[in-house]
Amino acid sequence: HLDRIAAVDGEINAFLHVAGEQALSAAKQVDDALGSGQAPASALAGVPLALKDVFTTTDMPTTCGSKILEGWVSPYDATLTTRLREAGIPVLGKTNMDEFAMGSSTENSAYGPTRNPWDTTRIPGGSGGGSAAALASNQAPLAIGTDTGGSIRQPAAVTATVGTKPTYGTVSRFGLVACASSLDQGGPCGRSVLDTALLHEVIAGHDPRDSTSVNAPVRPVVEAARQGASGDLKGLRVGVVKELHSESYQPGVIASFDAAVAQLTELGAEVVEVSCPSFLHALAAYYLILPSEVSSNLARFDAMRYGLRVDDGNMSADQVMAATRAAGFGKEVKRRIMIGTYALSSGYYDAYYGSALKVRTLIARDFDKAYESVDVLVSPTSPFTPWKLGEKVDDPLAMYLSDLCTLPTNLAGHCAMSVPSGLSADDGLPVGLQIMAPAMADERLYRVGAAYE
Ligand code: GLN
Repeated sequence: HLDRIAAVDGEINAFLHVAGEQALSAAKQVDDALGSGQAPASALAGVPLALKDVFTTTDMPTTCGSKILEGWVSPYDATLTTRLREAGIPVLGKTNMDEFAMGSSTENSAYGPTRNPWDTTRIPGGSGGGSAAALASNQAPLAIGTDTGGSIRQPAAVTATVGTKPTYGTVSRFGLVACASSLDQGGPCGRSVLDTALLHEVIAGHDPRDSTSVNAPVRPVVEAARQGASGDLKGLRVGVVKELHSESYQPGVIASFDAAVAQLTELGAEVVEVSCPSFLHALAAYYLILPSEVSSNLARFDAMRYGLRVDDGNMSADQVMAATRAAGFGKEVKRRIMIGTYALSSGYYDAYYGSALKVRTLIARDFDKAYESVDVLVSPTSPFTPWKLGEKVDDPLAMYLSDLCTLPTNLAGHCAMSVPSGLSADDGLPVGLQIMAPAMADERLYRVGAAYE
């Protein structure tokens, strides 16, 4: 994999940092343990992985795709990093991402965009475009992403790979640099549903160092993936969300989705249409809640504690802070800090942030009602196939539209997965099928995903 990275990553730019020596020494430890007759640390011991550059690592930099953290090395490992190490999974390096996980194309990285291996003039999705592109270009067989509004699923869809956003609270956020804390969730990415399930079981589990961590046993996702692989979905009830099937989506995406639904029926599932009217307001609610949390979380980049510091020697502390943030943050991050600060300000709080929270509750209720009659919900993962690099960078609203189908799951704290759903008939580019399930029912995603794949 290191040779492959050396050969192709000049063009793809999936990695911000490659840690060849560390990866080889982790792999050697696995070999030595096996050589001395010890049992492997996990089913994935020795299988290398690409880690999104938003999880802290003591032996490599953590930049979050931002200039403000350039060269910063964390004094501690994220819990997820520790779990990878304990499972004997060598980390090949850190992958490119939209700055602080804000974006849908990886073009908001301060270190240049990642290119989609299917067509290098196109975007690999975002914010976890680096992880998805590393998988799709065979630079790594496993990867880690984070999903605040779709950043695991949408990159998986546009690169024809698999990605899961686990139930909120089931993968530790300790050492995951926060974007929007009530939405962020780390998750597994792979090239098959079973690989993704194996990684899911490595990273999930209670962590006392994360106050929102769920204290419950890890869901049996590997068993579910194995069961699903038999291709039998008899007895399973699937809901097609009416509001996530629109004429405004790319025709090839809708055609691929309709074919996927027909296939689920052939596998024995009972498919019905369900209505979740509040989902139509998910985008508006998300783009108030996320910036509000961002404006608070990113206050920690104050030029005193981490990374970049712009100081001509004659500046006051306030001036240093302002100059550093002006130089260190990119356009999209600044835009969201401004929106969030406005939405939270006195006099506007109830009208904006308060209303958005009410919509969030309505979305959760729509889900609850739907799950009274079905086991899983399905939709396209993204309304579009990967677009051209540069096409939407100057139109943030057009960019936000690519998150339409993924946002409701984050707002409700539920789980969802994207699996490859063939190539679009109109442009020959990858399409993803999104499977959604209630909180703490992640195994349903894997059963359906493995049967469909
Ligand atoms: N594209 C979404 C955004 O820009 C999702 C981001 C994410 O999941 N980290 O906010």
